[in-house]
Amino acid sequence: MTITIKTPEPRSEGARAFLARRQKQILIDGVWRDAGSGQRFETFDPASGRLLAELAEATASDVDEAVASASAALTSKEWKGMTPSARGKLLWKIAELIDAHVEELAELETLDQGKSFRTGRFGEIPASAEQFRYFAGFCTKILGTTIPTSIAYQPEGREIFAYTTREPVGVVAAITPWNSPMLMAAMKLAPALAAGCTVVLKPAEETSLTAIRLVELMLEAGLPKGVVNLVTGFGEVVGAALTAHPDVDKVAFTGSTEVGKLIVSAAQGNLKKLTLELGGKSPAIVMPDADMALAIPGIARGIFSNSGQVCVAGSRVYAHRAVYEEVVDGLSKAAAALTLGHGLDTGTDLGPLVNRKQADRVAGFIAEGRSEGAEITSGGNQTGEFGTFFEPTVVTSVRPDMRMMREEIFGPVVAVTPFDHPEEAIAYANDSPYGLAGSVWTQDLSSAHRLAARVKAGTIWINCHSYFSPELPKGGHKQSGWGYENGAPGLENYLETKTVCAVI
Ligand code: ADP
Repeated sequence: MTITIKTPEPRSEGARAFLARRQKQILIDGVWRDAGSGQRFETFDPASGRLLAELAEATASDVDEAVASASAALTSKEWKGMTPSARGKLLWKIAELIDAHVEELAELETLDQGKSFRTGRFGEIPASAEQFRYFAGFCTKILGTTIPTSIAYQPEGREIFAYTTREPVGVVAAITPWNSPMLMAAMKLAPALAAGCTVVLKPAEETSLTAIRLVELMLEAGLPKGVVNLVTGFGEVVGAALTAHPDVDKVAFTGSTEVGKLIVSAAQGNLKKLTLELGGKSPAIVMPDADMALAIPGIARGIFSNSGQVCVAGSRVYAHRAVYEEVVDGLSKAAAALTLGHGLDTGTDLGPLVNRKQADRVAGFIAEGRSEGAEITSGGNQTGEFGTFFEPTVVTSVRPDMRMMREEIFGPVVAVTPFDHPEEAIAYANDSPYGLAGSVWTQDLSSAHRLAARVKAGTIWINCHSYFSPELPKGGHKQSGWGYENGAPGLENYLETKTVCAVI
């Protein structure tokens, strides 16, 4: 498949002005400045190869300053003294500013990450605003309880009065990945701020641009200095310094299981609280009575959107033998119908992967699978002038022990396997170290809910895949993570409980 890349200019004034300011800085205590070392690194458009910006390459000493700023802001009059109602209004204002800059943010996300403009413009950027709106409502509803106790030994004539209060957990290090950069940052910033925490945000080194723009908008909304600090740089340096820092109270991380495990070790020193949203290898089970008009496009979207760079991507499809051929054929046709191109070009369905390294990695999985007998029924090729694109790919004749069936590929690759009995499908689905999400496709209500109960995963969709909303808790079972984002559990992660027990 040949791909013609024009090098489209962003249409919005905002994106053009942002890119014209070529050298980006870090934010500490409300002041934008260069990294202490003066070093920078470059970020590129993966579709056209164009240099987009030079980012400040922070080091451990910048992290120290960012954490000190966040620690000081935690008890500042401007932040701790802000009323819950004012905090809610501030979050709502941030949402409004995101909406007002939606075109610009979507264009920056496309240029930096590769995704189609539509995905950002109508999906991830409005969803980021919704994160702030949803958590804005919680600010005035963070409540303790009064508790009647059974303690029998208070002094004569005295009583026990006991209650709980909720407190922010403290300084949060928010470490985000490159697949949905703005949304992943919003999913951490919104609940952290609603709870009254302060934050040091470290975006992925591949895709830091929208995080920088988001933080600019947060300051414009009136966020007091030091409440959110931003350090750009590399995971092994900035991420590692944050996760080992004695004054960071919590790490909120989305990324690979491998790095998640490193964070668990690094957090030991002061037993940081951790929320880890890690890898996935999500199954989609297609029963013989599935509505194919829903299932085929739904499963195709569930794996191919964002070129498969989605933690919940439905990369393992288990189709009942009665519909197996129809599923393989339908998915292969859906894959072949997708248009690859620059995310800003109208008509593009899929952009490139985030960089050449990731596209090479996907190609490695395909080459290895082929050599072990896997058959490609659609796609299978790395393409584009810079080798950053990968065709949407459907694979059959796979075995459960193949690496492509066990590891997260993070590319537009789906493997389809037939099954004869639902128990077999459940065993296949659960045969994974991951347990992030899964989907079930059937018109039989009982079978839908029975399967939903048996698949070990944090989210199960029925007759849909990759449906998200801030109200719906999202988290991983097994090695897909610890804790939840979104919904009421998403706020809990940023709060401590204090029990006060008094003799009065
Ligand atoms: P992905 O490949 O899905 O982006 P990674 O886990 O490699 O996942 O990266 C996610 C985030 O974790 C990025 O911001 C990256 O810089 C950061 N990171 C990488 N290595 C470390 C580390 N050792 N400690 C903390 N953060 C890290």
